[in-house]
Amino acid sequence: MNIHEYQAKELLAKFGVGIPAGIAALTVEEAVAAAKQLPGPLYVVKAQIHAGGRGKGKFKELGADAKGGVRLAKSVEEVEAFAKEMLGNTLVTVQTGDAGKQVNRLYVTDGVDIASEYYLSMVVDRASSRVAMIVSTEGGMDIEDVAHNTPEKITTVTIDTAAGFQPHHGRAVAFALKLTGDLNKQAQKIAKQLYEAFVALDCDMLEINPLVETKPDSSGAANLLVLDTKMSFDSNALYRHPDVQALRDETEEDPAEVEASKYDLAYIKLDGDIGCMVNGAGLAMATMDIIKLNGSFPANFLDVGGGATKEKVTAAFKIILRDPNVKGILVNIFGGIMKCDVIADGIVAAAKEVNLSVPLVVRLEGTNVQQGKDILANSGLPIVPANDLGDAAKKIVAEVKNAA
Ligand code: GDP
Ligand code: MG
Repeated sequence: MNIHEYQAKELLAKFGVGIPAGIAALTVEEAVAAAKQLPGPLYVVKAQIHAGGRGKGKFKELGADAKGGVRLAKSVEEVEAFAKEMLGNTLVTVQTGDAGKQVNRLYVTDGVDIASEYYLSMVVDRASSRVAMIVSTEGGMDIEDVAHNTPEKITTVTIDTAAGFQPHHGRAVAFALKLTGDLNKQAQKIAKQLYEAFVALDCDMLEINPLVETKPDSSGAANLLVLDTKMSFDSNALYRHPDVQALRDETEEDPAEVEASKYDLAYIKLDGDIGCMVNGAGLAMATMDIIKLNGSFPANFLDVGGGATKEKVTAAFKIILRDPNVKGILVNIFGGIMKCDVIADGIVAAAKEVNLSVPLVVRLEGTNVQQGKDILANSGLPIVPANDLGDAAKKIVAEVKNAA
């Protein structure tokens, strides 16, 4: 699960991490009120969408030379003007795809006088079974290019979660960022705070880009602040964090995937034209592979899970059919805990309820398979039975080609 920048910053602030002051706004009036509460005279108006690259993004509705989704404002009037340009419009960035994302929220922050931009991120690294902290002096907007063109400018420090964050990890991070004196100490501290937040919140990714060094103030003191952040959470651990769960913004997610999660269905939309309904992730992957082997492409991954009830099967059909690309459906279910006759009843009821208009091939295997096949055969529906996985894939590919 992903959250917005302003939400992530509020969470990080609780761990002592320095962030610029800021207030979220849903309307132009709220954005103006937010700016008036900030010290000024420099403000930043930031589009809140679940995608990065906002600074270099473009609004579909505005002209080609209109600025992106992160704007520096020098007055409250400018904050108002930028808020009007952004709210309700569609921001297209390298991460949103061509469709872009509608901007429904803004974050109005105190403008920071930046001396340097750094990069720091963390992921769960399966290869080392550790948390990998990735840092670079080349923070800002093009970290992907840095990784591609000058990988030597990126340093990875791995942290064993059993032993936790040690002082040497902090020193390695501060050294990689080439910081000295007080800023070096600040880097060690912020790296530790970010690690603690990452573990305590069960994050699976936390990216700070940029982490900035401020220009020295009148007393000569400079600070490290988190200027932008992206945070995502391990959904298997969300039950431990109701406060984080409450931050979910469903308007940012694929509507079919949101619907699927209500029924505990693991659904991911893909680009092909054969809808798949399978129980078990491994079988679902094998089903997608064998569809490809037969020359077509799956329209989705869908794992109905172990307890496929009639309600679940019906919901799954509806979700598959929301996708206008779907030209046929392949159901591949292994009746282990669930019996095949119960599943067949569910399929028949669901197919009738949704008025199924595309070819449907069903492969059932397992407990009570013959009863299940009889139910499908006697349903009066044009369901094509299949004997095994290879047969099922061949049949659905042929059915879709014939129907075209
Ligand atoms: P992103 O484009 O979605 O990654 O959004 P960011 O929040 O990272 O902002 C993009 C860029 O805008 C940053 O890398 C900074 O260069 C600039 N920026 C953001 N906030 C400020 C600020 O407070 N002051 C200044 N001077 N620049 C800022
Ligand atoms: Mg950024």
